[in-house]
Amino acid sequence: MKWKEQLLQLTPYQPGKPIEDVKRQYGLEKIVKLASNENPFGCSEKVVASIQSSAASTPLYPDGNATNLREALANHFHFSPSQFIFGNGADNLIQIISRSLLKPGMNTVMAAQTFSQYKHNAIIDGAEIREVPQINGEHDLNGMLEAIDDETAVVWVCNPNNPTGTYISEDSLVSFLEKVPNDILVVIDEAYADYVVANDYCDSIKLLDQFPNIIILRTFSKIYGLASQRVGFGISQPEIIKALEPAREPFNVNSIAQKAAIVALKDQDYVQYCKQKNREGLEQFYLFCKEKGLNYYPSQANFILIDFDKDGNEVFQYLLERGYIVRSGMALGFPTCVRVTVGSKEQNEGVIRVMEELLSENAVVS
Ligand SMILES: *Cc1c(COP(=O)(O)O)cnc(C)c1O
Repeated sequence: MKWKEQLLQLTPYQPGKPIEDVKRQYGLEKIVKLASNENPFGCSEKVVASIQSSAASTPLYPDGNATNLREALANHFHFSPSQFIFGNGADNLIQIISRSLLKPGMNTVMAAQTFSQYKHNAIIDGAEIREVPQINGEHDLNGMLEAIDDETAVVWVCNPNNPTGTYISEDSLVSFLEKVPNDILVVIDEAYADYVVANDYCDSIKLLDQFPNIIILRTFSKIYGLASQRVGFGISQPEIIKALEPAREPFNVNSIAQKAAIVALKDQDYVQYCKQKNREGLEQFYLFCKEKGLNYYPSQANFILIDFDKDGNEVFQYLLERGYIVRSGMALGFPTCVRVTVGSKEQNEGVIRVMEELLSENAVVS
């Protein structure tokens, strides 16, 4: 076969371990998955009802224009319907953007470490990848500016950043955007924007008119609890949306998901509830880290990256065998850390108890 040579250096995305596999392998009855930043409270009950009532739409193709969802989001954010593009998850939008702008001879600038899909898609599309190391888990925006040249087509900004949970302040983001040439698309991935509480965070939707070269990515997978439904969207200028549209599969968001997203969007009380619970959960982890003298990255998202100062795979394995699936920092570029999704109060207590056990066992050994 005449594969693109860049494919040969890639492996498929390694998702968080499936619950059923772990149960079988370790003979466990109860598993708590805190690995993929899903919503521990599920989705709004109204969404469950909507999904149940949507079954009859199954034989028909979805509305490829997502007209109703488009309208709902346009009203919610006070933008024109022509400023939205939809994806089978935000992942799909990353792919669409990469396919539309990246090619051999061009380059793309991103932080290291950040969300893996920017690099993964850029490799497939044959572009040069310029990764700018972070400083204390935060984007080095000046370093990123220096990495930009005439061949740069896309710059990726993840805010808050996955896997560190750190954020970029409004002042820093604005002064960065002012310096990026306006023929370069800046993708601002705000998958976790709904969790942010920092006062100086910039919901960059309000920057859209000031900076016509940005696209903002959002998802229904995280705070809205619709990860299985696969709905993400981008907001940008109509010209940018129009240019990207031919690279989108015509029916990439299914009917059940479109309807579920509309219902989820309407239930902002539920979003607020989850945001509040997430802060309380983060406090549980902060307290634990402080008590045990562990370093962690202060998080504006629904996960926390904790440094155990030992092999992240070992910490991961220890927790796994006791029924808690987290992500080892090894594959995320933080080899001595694990990333833990904030769960319900009880789930957090449970995983913290096992972490304490791990630390005390090690203390006895040494
Ligand atoms: C989870 C995540 C996404 C992708 O979400 P979808 O489920 O594909 O909508 C995109 N960006 C970041 C930073 C994420 O953490």
